[in-house]
Amino acid sequence: MSRPAEYGRRLPSPAAGGVVEAVEPGSPAARADLRAGDIIMSVDGSRLRDVIDWQWLADGFECELAVLPPNDVEARVVIRREPGEPWGVSFTETVFDGVRTCRNRCAFCFMTQLPKGLRRALYLRDDDFRLSFLQGNFITLTNLSDDDVARIDEQHLSPLYVSLHAVDPEIRQELVCAQEDRALERFDELLDAGIDLHVQIVLVPDVNDGAVLQESLDWLAQREGVLSVGIVPLGFTAHQKRFAGSFQERSAARAVIDAVAPWQRAMRDRDGCSWVYLADEFYLNADVEFPPAEEYDAFPQYENGIGMARDFIDAFRSAGPEITSAVEHLPTGVPVTLATGELFAPVLARELAALVAGGQVAVVGVRNEFFGGNVSVAGLLTSADLARDVAGTPANGIVLLPGCIANADGLLLDGASVAGLGTALGREVRLLSCDAGGLLSGLRDVAENPPSPKE
Ligand code: SF4
Repeated sequence: MSRPAEYGRRLPSPAAGGVVEAVEPGSPAARADLRAGDIIMSVDGSRLRDVIDWQWLADGFECELAVLPPNDVEARVVIRREPGEPWGVSFTETVFDGVRTCRNRCAFCFMTQLPKGLRRALYLRDDDFRLSFLQGNFITLTNLSDDDVARIDEQHLSPLYVSLHAVDPEIRQELVCAQEDRALERFDELLDAGIDLHVQIVLVPDVNDGAVLQESLDWLAQREGVLSVGIVPLGFTAHQKRFAGSFQERSAARAVIDAVAPWQRAMRDRDGCSWVYLADEFYLNADVEFPPAEEYDAFPQYENGIGMARDFIDAFRSAGPEITSAVEHLPTGVPVTLATGELFAPVLARELAALVAGGQVAVVGVRNEFFGGNVSVAGLLTSADLARDVAGTPANGIVLLPGCIANADGLLLDGASVAGLGTALGREVRLLSCDAGGLLSGLRDVAENPPSPKE
């Protein structure tokens, strides 16, 4: 393409369109002279709202793009490709016209319980079917329009992930507080359109457990296309006054496990899969061993904290001889601290103790006082809590943290850096990938690259 000759109409500012992040050298996009920073506004005259539109509209061998380069002058660009050839273009965002946010006022909304001053992205209350399709984010369906349903149907955006919580209208009103609640109707419209759904139920003690939960599961089990149901306990911080408990008591967690077990057995008989799954917290709080991996049926709600512990344990045990060897090769005089959330720490300590005698590697469960409440996962730890609970470990050692604790820039939730945490602690702090393989690599790395000796 000859850029200047094809440029024409000036546009004030793009209402939508995807900003090109990178162009693969030699690709069709590169041959058409697309460049990073260009905004692709439309494909064959159809406006581009997100990467789904891009994949949908640009699925042929040739199309005409409206491209807005950084100098704000629009161009028409024809791109062509051979069969099987990718376009070679990536975008800076997945959604181009703004993430849709929710209009609900859920009683348990975690975002409204957050203290001020955290990373901005944490406060985003997204309820966007596109992110549900692309990333597995749960949506409530209360903010879905007829046009949205038509688009989901047309582009067959399946599966989607739906937060349902309850089917009883009064309980739904109490929990979700939607301005207009047509979620159950939407749910059936999507199923009728052939869209598969993964469902989440946030379980709130004495609200949607017990008979309400049984009613919800019964309603869901009657519907083909409901691929899985994940039940997670209410999460609450100390920055609210409404909730004080959420199945932390052993008996309360055990009661939920017992209430769901008959459903799992019945659905295995009927459909060959457990279908309804409980978050790891229920087993940890009940002090009940996690179900075997095969009962998680390929972990359909892994990212929802369902089956992560089982997966870790199995991988850890498989890598047992290598982990033992890695610990034996640690440099003498370098104590290693594995710091993680309070909830998971006992599991990690137990698995480690079964492999190696205590001594050089210790597990520390960090208490989350920043959020308080029942927040006990590693991913929500902040620098003050880490510094407090790790400070008592040997000063000549090294601290290994799960990578989910920091963002891509190495910043913790409160904006402190991992490097700064190490400075405050007076010892080296490293991040690990949050799985058994990551732990093994981290231990090997300490052996190969021990921390510099203190002066
Ligand atoms: S739908 Fe999600 S983000 Fe919106 S209020 Fe409810 S819990 Fe919060």
